[in-house]
Amino acid sequence: MPSPAFRETSDAIEVHDAPDAAGPDPHARLRGLGYEDAAALLRPRSNTASPAAGQDDTAETRGAAGAESDFSEKLAKWSATAPKQNYDHVRFRGVMVNKRTRQLVRRAEKIMREHFNHDDFRFSFSQGSYNRSVSASAGTHDGGGALDIRTRGHRKKVVDHMVQSLRMAGFAAWSRGRGHDSFGGSPHLHAIAVGDRELAPIARAQVTDFAHGRNGLRGHARDPDRKLKAPVPKWAKNKLNKLRR
Ligand SMILES: [Zn+2]
Repeated sequence: MPSPAFRETSDAIEVHDAPDAAGPDPHARLRGLGYEDAAALLRPRSNTASPAAGQDDTAETRGAAGAESDFSEKLAKWSATAPKQNYDHVRFRGVMVNKRTRQLVRRAEKIMREHFNHDDFRFSFSQGSYNRSVSASAGTHDGGGALDIRTRGHRKKVVDHMVQSLRMAGFAAWSRGRGHDSFGGSPHLHAIAVGDRELAPIARAQVTDFAHGRNGLRGHARDPDRKLKAPVPKWAKNKLNKLRR
């Protein structure tokens, strides 16, 4: 009979199947790309050779570019393919989520590992979904699709990559507690899965806020992470565009 611990172990096995991609600075390609440039980034690279790279095209750099290109194809596939609409509840690293949310987390984790080169990276959670016990969250975690992600112990750059990876996977995600909100004492990331059919009403409103480049908090201040240039997948972008009308 599978216990929660057993299921957690199974999860760990499933998510550790990715070979680590190597590359000098693969996310350099992200710089200068805006929110609207998702399709350009997520399309597999074909004939977009960098002029600078041509100068010293050693075997090693060609290999790294190849690995990155393979991952670009995976990103393009994820961009075109929304996660399965599976709302079965599962325990996942200590919190409750639905399977759709778990699938998106796994995508984000692979982006952390293979695009941002944080080998063996794993998200860890301080709050999940379907959780009506935390009044401080004002109901955002009552339904599906919601996660709070721990950031303590990570460098600023890594936290930035976490926000980017979550957004690139299809979450409305923001950093909290970095000096632009009232969460100073408890830094974390707050993430809501775009397109989740079981979102709490207030979580749904946060996704709308995200679509408008806002922070999802009372007052609707500007998205504190707007400079991070994280292109959202095409399926999520279509949903966000509808919310902007
Ligand atoms: Zn939260």
